[in-house]
Formats: sequence, C-alpha cells, structure tokens
Amino acid sequence: MSMRDTDRALVQAATAVAKLRCRSDRHTVAAAARTAAGRVFTGVNVHHVTGGPCAEVVVIGAAATQGETELETIVAVGDRGRDVLTPCGPCQQVLRDYFPSIRVIVGPADALRAVPVAELLPGE
Ligand SMILES: [Zn+2]
Repeated sequence: MSMRDTDRALVQAATAVAKLRCRSDRHTVAAAARTAAGRVFTGVNVHHVTGGPCAEVVVIGAAATQGETELETIVAVGDRGRDVLTPCGPCQQVLRDYFPSIRVIVGPADALRAVPVAELLPGE
C-alpha cells in the first residue's frame, strides 16, 4: 500500500519525538498515530524490567485520554537514528484488537509502506 503525504508527515512527527525525547535507556522508541480526522498523537515507550509499555500502547492511551478511540494509522521510530520499527508481537495484537482496520507504517527508510495491521506477520 502506498504512502500518502499524511503518512510521511506522521513518520516525521515520530522521528522528531524520537530525536527530542528518547535520550535515555528509559525512552528508546517514539510512536505517532493519526485519526481519520487528522488529529495526531505521539508518545514514547516507558522501559522497565517489569515490562513497561511500548510507545504504541502509550499513544493509544494518550489518544483515549483526549477522547479519541479510533486511530487510522500508526508508526513507531527508534532512537539513535534507528528509523521506522515494526511493532512487536504483543503490540500488533493490541492494535489488531483495538483498531482492526488500522494501517501500520513499516519498512526501511527508502521503501516505507503502510499496511493493514492484519497483514503484518509476527516478527516482521
Ligand atoms: Zn510493542
């Protein structure tokens, strides 16, 4: 599935948060998600040995806090220039359960694509 301008903007938003806010071992991934209306939410992971939440889950909570319970597209970007990351298995499951039709941006920087969450393969 091809990338829209709004998808590229979402990657830029997550990249900016990763650069600005992921500066320690506690916060190493940033995520950004967009609603169908174009509202964007961002968040960072909360790393902890007890299993702190991934950035994607933090974004879902941030959106819900603002009353948004439908997300259309999401992307995660790693710190230290790690570019776009595919959501981990548990996050893929959360995304699938919460937003069955959400699009997830994946792939290398020069070949990003937005795919339906149902088409993501575990471990991709
Ligand atoms: Zn995850």
